[in-house]
Amino acid sequence: MPALTGLQRLAVLCGTLVAVACATTAPKPAPPPAPVVTIPLPPPPAPPGSGDPKFDAFLADARQTALAQGITKETFDAATAGIAPIASIASMNANQPEFSKPIWSYLDSAVSARRIADAKLMLARYGDVLARIEASSGVPKDILVAIWGMETDFGSDTGGFNMFAALATLAYDGPRGDYARPEFFAALRLYQEQHYPLSEMVASWAGAFGQTQFTPTTFFKYATDGDGDGKIDLWLSAPDALASSAKLLASQNWKKGEPWGYEVKLPKNFPYEDADTDTQKTIAEWRALGVKAADGALLPASDDSAGLYLPAGAHGPAFLVLPNFNVILKYNNAASYALAVGLLADRMAGGAPVKHAWPRDERALSRTERIQFQTDLGKLGFDAGMPDGVLGHKSRAALRQYQKSKGLPADGFATATLLAMLDKDAAAR
Ligand code: CA
Repeated sequence: MPALTGLQRLAVLCGTLVAVACATTAPKPAPPPAPVVTIPLPPPPAPPGSGDPKFDAFLADARQTALAQGITKETFDAATAGIAPIASIASMNANQPEFSKPIWSYLDSAVSARRIADAKLMLARYGDVLARIEASSGVPKDILVAIWGMETDFGSDTGGFNMFAALATLAYDGPRGDYARPEFFAALRLYQEQHYPLSEMVASWAGAFGQTQFTPTTFFKYATDGDGDGKIDLWLSAPDALASSAKLLASQNWKKGEPWGYEVKLPKNFPYEDADTDTQKTIAEWRALGVKAADGALLPASDDSAGLYLPAGAHGPAFLVLPNFNVILKYNNAASYALAVGLLADRMAGGAPVKHAWPRDERALSRTERIQFQTDLGKLGFDAGMPDGVLGHKSRAALRQYQKSKGLPADGFATATLLAMLDKDAAAR
């Protein structure tokens, strides 16, 4: 049937109505006016939007920016259809285990017997792939498998959030906006260029995705095809994810053949104010200060620089950390994370557990207590920065000064005992 013009369609429609009218109208001289028949309309579509005007304004603005960057309307609209802010993300950001657990509890789960056993299985299962990646990148297979285990338990937990909703939630409001905005646009590009099904594009609350948790911007810098099938799929291909992580670490100047670090033993009366990953000395200098290998052997008289990391202060284990430790920090900027990766890598290769005991009778300070810690230090004239509950470099330096003023080992490690002492001194001020 040839296409009808608009007028023809109108005529057909009128004819039908007339026919119906003829069939149902009785031949009476003065019919009452026919009642107005209203045909029920489908319910109006819900007003567009998430219910959060600030979020909707962000999306409207982001759409313009995305289109200017070459993202098509179809890409943007499909990727953001129906997304709304995810309420749980703010609390996940505030309670990252790297910062909220005592280091020994964090390591208990990060380097558990179960994870070491799984890591050995993966080393065997992907032996050929890993050997090839190690040969071409210089990054040891143990480190790659440790990152894989830390990030997603070897691909078994790649996150349950819609990547676009998670990144938009972080981008539109809150402290992570500067991180999340470029990631959001890179995620759109990822979808447009790589043609992943939207249902596959799941991410962590922070928008990291795939078996080794890349962000969309790191994908464009470092992702690579590890299994040679011509595509890059960090969710479904372990070789792709492992080869991409190796490329990232190699690009950050991984030093081939060097360890990440190792446990050491400190002499009595060690100058603890030097024990900070920010204080670099040559291994020969550490040796001159009496630092020995954990088994008591002398350190090499080497000119390589290293920092001393005391994750639980003077009463816990000590680690000499080399430049590769800082490379692991590029993956996730938490010293506890880098330590867990290093220890897990050592254990799967048959290395011994940490020798020195952890001070397990110490408890972790709550965020409120950490803020109190910083406030007290400030009151006593030690500049710990703005009290934000994060005991970073500035807070540790202020604590060291306080410890020195009290004749205590200046290890910069915040404990409940020290907090009680600080509270008393601050109250007496
Ligand atoms: Ca591939």
